[in-house]
Amino acid sequence: MVKIERSFPAPVSLAAEAGKNNGSYEKPDVVARLIKDFHNKCYICELKNLQDPQVEHLLPHKNGKYQERKFDWNNLFWACGHCNGVKNQKKYDAGILDCCKIDPEQKIIFRLKQNNIELLSQMADPDEETVRTIELIREVFNLKNTGLRVYKSDMRLKELQKEMNLLFDNLEKLKENPKSELVLRKLKALLRREAAFAAFKRCYVKEHLSDYPELRPLIF
Ligand SMILES: [Zn+2]
Repeated sequence: MVKIERSFPAPVSLAAEAGKNNGSYEKPDVVARLIKDFHNKCYICELKNLQDPQVEHLLPHKNGKYQERKFDWNNLFWACGHCNGVKNQKKYDAGILDCCKIDPEQKIIFRLKQNNIELLSQMADPDEETVRTIELIREVFNLKNTGLRVYKSDMRLKELQKEMNLLFDNLEKLKENPKSELVLRKLKALLRREAAFAAFKRCYVKEHLSDYPELRPLIF
């Protein structure tokens, strides 16, 4: 999860739809704006170019019980079906980090270990939103309580490993040839917040900055 710059004003359909009995919060203007603002990436697992995107509510509207949340532009997020489904549990109802307002990289350490992810709080005494966000991201890479979730969680881990290997390959090349413009350009693309699994890649570089000081401007 990385910081997202949400654009304003809100898509115009939201105000009109909020006044209808069966209004929709996923009209084309809302969807197009979410794709653009969120770089067509699930804000929870950071998978790109989603096949099954959903408009997710940071704070649940509970089938319209909280009508004001349903059409609130600040409450609408771009997520994959898997993450939306995993997040739909009571324990997340009080909310996770709002990555449009708070930079998750300031709150969470994102690591890929041997065969799993490791998420830690940056603070000794983390706030509740940070704790719930860590729990949720762990779950979307690990929850295997249905056959499909075995597949979907594993698939995310494999995609993350692939992307990290791409990063490691290019870091290796940078060591061999620190002045290579081509390698630096590739690393710049891999480390942009827009990129898949950016939080994990950026965190790795941050934790190994002494080996790659030339990459500092790409992550701060
Ligand atoms: Zn996701």
